[in-house]
Amino acid sequence: MQAGTTIFEHMSGLARAHDAINLGQGFPDFGWPESVLAAGAEAISHGNNQYPPMRGLPELRAAVAEFCRRDGLAVAAEQVIITSGATEALAASIMAVAGPGDEVILFAPAYDAYAPLVRRAGASPVWVALQPPDWQASAAAIAAAITPATRAILINTPHNPTGGMAGPAMLAAIAELATRHDLIIISDEVWEAVLTSDRPHVSPFTLAPERTIKIGSAGKLLALTGWKVGWVVAQAALAERVAQVHQYLTFTTPPPLQVAVAAGLALPDAWFDAARARYAAARDRLAGALTAGGWALLPTHGSYFLMADLAASGIALGDRRFCEAAVADAKAGVAAIPLSAFMPDGAETPFIRLCFAKSDAVLDEGARRLNAVRARLAGG
Ligand code: PMP
Ligand code: GLN
Repeated sequence: MQAGTTIFEHMSGLARAHDAINLGQGFPDFGWPESVLAAGAEAISHGNNQYPPMRGLPELRAAVAEFCRRDGLAVAAEQVIITSGATEALAASIMAVAGPGDEVILFAPAYDAYAPLVRRAGASPVWVALQPPDWQASAAAIAAAITPATRAILINTPHNPTGGMAGPAMLAAIAELATRHDLIIISDEVWEAVLTSDRPHVSPFTLAPERTIKIGSAGKLLALTGWKVGWVVAQAALAERVAQVHQYLTFTTPPPLQVAVAAGLALPDAWFDAARARYAAARDRLAGALTAGGWALLPTHGSYFLMADLAASGIALGDRRFCEAAVADAKAGVAAIPLSAFMPDGAETPFIRLCFAKSDAVLDEGARRLNAVRARLAGG
């Protein structure tokens, strides 16, 4: 793998080179609302294509606030800052609250951008392990990671790559410890609407609104990952700190996309419910076919990712070696993501991540290939 290239870029490149089925990088091949595409096209052709306000178009800030209120959160439009994807929201939030000599608590496994962004800010990541199969961290483990240099706890729920969700005890511990030690909670909730079981999404914003930076992404909510429209929601003084960073990171986000995303967030609950059901059906389809083929899978509740346990599936390879071999398989090329890419030390694990946000034909062929690879590597 080329040094410095993300695992997602790397595996998608290999998938293209080998004409493999791509269950690696997380993007859907269905599910975007046509009305939102039309709103974007209309806004490009006939709307404003010059710099929008730095904090975002008023109509999108209002739409994000309304979307949060539908979820029971008391949020005003003034608390919203529109960013160029959740990635920029994360960068701006981390840089706003942590600098040289500071520490930020991260949970392992963690989305690949977190630790590099913390280090770019001059701060150090301090790791707390999430424990499989339910991927929770105890109050004691989190408390043990806090030092006088701690500035923030970065949480991701629902969680990429595991599909886990922070439970009530973990959320309560984070809120209590953050309050006691005067820490900011950076809460990456890009997967808030992609729920595939009946576990509800609970935002730390409901527990500690004065110290939580809630991050969202239209890429996930509207199945338009390439659009890179995200946002930050926080109380006024905290939002102001994030805006100070945002104005020199990207300053703004393309206004036609903001117009279109505002229309998308106003879609009725029925649209989001149907999207959720469609993802759950895709998860069940892939999981069913893989289980029948001898794969051992971990339970999943949110995001469009599913984890498979190589060792329990009879495969003695580490995750990276398996992924490199599977994508290049001449007869059964299929791309997956090794869990080690999300681990602090990058050491091989026995877990791989599969993206199930794919049409039935792709899922069926992906499962057929994974089952063939497994049968060959496991010897039956
Ligand atoms: N955070 C998490 C947990 C993600 O899974 C992703 C993308 N998959 C992002 C942030 C980045 O979101 P965006 O594409 O909006 O920058
Ligand atoms: N977030 C997506 C994933 O987890 C990919 C994002 C990226 O390619 N950087 O697969």
